[in-house]
Amino acid sequence: MLPVIALVGRPNVGKSTLFNALTRSRDALVADMPGVTRDRHYGICHLGERPFVVVDTGGLSGSDEGIEGLTAQQVRLAIGEANLLVFVVDARDGILPLDASILGELRRSGKPVIVVVNKTDGTDEPTVMAEFASFGVAQTLPMSAAHNRGIDVLVASALPHLPPDEDDGAEARLSLEEQGMRVAIVGRPNAGKSTLINRLLGEDRLIVSDLAGTTRDPIRVRLERDGKRYTLIDTAGVRRKARVEEAVEKFSVIKTLQSIAAAQVTVLMIDARENLADQDLTLIGHVIEEGRALVIAVNKWDGLDAYQREQTVKALERRLQFASWAKIVFISALHGSGMRELMRSVVRAHTAATKELSSSDLTRTLEKAYESYQPPLVRGHAPKLRYAHPGGNNPPTIVIHGSRTKHIAPAYRRYLENFFRTRYKLEGTPIRIDFRDGE
Ligand code: GDP
Ligand code: GDP
Repeated sequence: MLPVIALVGRPNVGKSTLFNALTRSRDALVADMPGVTRDRHYGICHLGERPFVVVDTGGLSGSDEGIEGLTAQQVRLAIGEANLLVFVVDARDGILPLDASILGELRRSGKPVIVVVNKTDGTDEPTVMAEFASFGVAQTLPMSAAHNRGIDVLVASALPHLPPDEDDGAEARLSLEEQGMRVAIVGRPNAGKSTLINRLLGEDRLIVSDLAGTTRDPIRVRLERDGKRYTLIDTAGVRRKARVEEAVEKFSVIKTLQSIAAAQVTVLMIDARENLADQDLTLIGHVIEEGRALVIAVNKWDGLDAYQREQTVKALERRLQFASWAKIVFISALHGSGMRELMRSVVRAHTAATKELSSSDLTRTLEKAYESYQPPLVRGHAPKLRYAHPGGNNPPTIVIHGSRTKHIAPAYRRYLENFFRTRYKLEGTPIRIDFRDGE
């Protein structure tokens, strides 16, 4: 699973500024997604080949009451799930009592801590750093997040604390063939994730219950069905017979993000009896940003009358226009209806996501697309598109070489995307187009 770095500290020290600097500079792949509310508190960054999750925790104010208490609870959840804690403090405020108590809490977690002294711009840095040295944390780094200074050093210091790549336990060491298609089952609590997995396995290997989730890690469940192999990545949080622990939030965004990243296809489950929530759209946004294939499973289709079904379909089609390539299937995990269609859609999305495309064929398709419709002129010159080659799969990536490509409008990019999608029957997966200028 992806390693997790949590940014912790008082309000106003610059955590969200740092988060933005990290995600902006490290994650070039931010999809164009009209209609998606994005949860900016969680981001997936890439360090070269190495992806990790950054969490901007809300901020600890020192109060355990009310809303602030709730935030504190979320922060603690994030601390529990993190591999590395980045403690952000404010160079201009110096050390406040709250900083000392937060640091105490971070230390008690036993996780590695890096102190980031932010807003050193315009301060006397050596003096400030000397003050914060009294924390006694070996890695204490100056930073000016607002000016993008210190980010690279932080990233370099963070890397050694992250678990080695592929250290994913026995399951992940299975050969790719043994794993089969990796499918993440995600969705809000009570959407029916555990019920679906039980149904697919056809036995009560998982125990469905209404109790709050108790297990920490998404688990992988192997499935063979109609001669095909799958590894289901389960985020339901209701897998073992409910050990009743403290009522931690059942829904973990971090686990969901990790599961999406580890899978090739994501099945997003939605309860047909509830409206599509912002959280659902946020998850779809993350799936698109990660370039993962997606199937939307509208569950609990039983118990809806004809009118309700019609209304539900209409509402979904309207709100999911930005991901219109994703197949929507209607299922009842409880009664087992729609399973065949669901799995067929998963296989199709997987096939599309991992399809090998050839340069000559891509170039021919590009020429056809360009002949039937050319990008509008920019100051009297037309952007030229010369040739294309594959740039990898999952998601299928098409690299297009030409000139003035930065003037190509989003509408034209979408036109090309649709052209390639239709030509190669890329149903169920996002497509990436990379424009390059010059030869
Ligand atoms: P958060 O509450 O910890 O997420 O803090 P924010 O990221 O919202 O930042 C709080 C304020 O500090 C904002 O007004 C930022 O513009 C400012 N700020 C953040 N980083 C820096 C920095 O490196 N230098 C300076 N001078 N101001 C900063
Ligand atoms: P999870 O939190 O996403 O894992 O959801 P669960 O699988 O625990 O399901 C939550 C509740 O919805 C349980 O009471 C299930 O019995 C119920 N449920 C799940 N699937 C269906 C379905 O297809 N139809 C109906 N009517 N109820 C369902």
